[in-house]
Amino acid sequence: MISMRLHVLGSGSCIFNQKDRLPASYILETDQHNILIDTGTGITQNIPESEIAVEDIDVVINTHRHPDHVSDLIPFIQNKVVESIYYSRNEGDLSIYGPEGHGRYVKNRIESEMDDSLEGINKNFPFNLEVRDLTEEISLADLNIGFCETEHGSDDFPCLAIKIETESQKVVFTGDTDYFESLIDFSKGADMVVADCSMPDEKKVEGHMTPSECFELAESSNTETLVLSHLYPEAEDISVKNVDSFSGNVVKAKDLIDISI
Ligand SMILES: [Zn+2]
Ligand SMILES: [Zn+2]
Repeated sequence: MISMRLHVLGSGSCIFNQKDRLPASYILETDQHNILIDTGTGITQNIPESEIAVEDIDVVINTHRHPDHVSDLIPFIQNKVVESIYYSRNEGDLSIYGPEGHGRYVKNRIESEMDDSLEGINKNFPFNLEVRDLTEEISLADLNIGFCETEHGSDDFPCLAIKIETESQKVVFTGDTDYFESLIDFSKGADMVVADCSMPDEKKVEGHMTPSECFELAESSNTETLVLSHLYPEAEDISVKNVDSFSGNVVKAKDLIDISI
């Protein structure tokens, strides 16, 4: 059986004064791939603190383009470029996926922030950088990557929930989202759902979920383990003890924890 492991790089939000919490970001480690989910502000600093080497990350998925999910993407690429020329590090190919318009966005950022273009990087450096909008499911060697649009603001600014499945396992990242009915079907039978649990129930905001909504999603979809993440400072006091509305395991995420799936 293919083994998977979740490495939490960040479990927080865009708010700066969160002690020990960088913006929500994760590495999903599988037998053949290390998939970086979101590249928010400062999270590149936590990659060396995880068990995964930077050069072993071969897929990046950005759920959407809010800065707490995408700011560090170009620093990540710059590191790859510079490591390959200054330090002759053996950088592998990298695929970057995101919602509609992401490919254009990434190419524009490379051109304006780096002294190069996507084409130039692919010509001048010993690895290939693929940048693509997620328009259909993607099959990698041992897994499938699926997605659905979430409810996180205007229709012109898409955010994606991501599901990563092997023959026997399924992990869902809700992305930033409010609770919505079809997310249950999307998450059906998941071994793990990593959920946007931004605010406590009494401080519900539009476009994000609360613990009660996360529990309902996990219970209705028959999820085995629910990870509460993307926590704002107000969510710091959320308790995951004696949860009645969900019968599976609940983990309140912390930066730099690992969870086997
Ligand atoms: Zn967002
Ligand atoms: Zn966010």
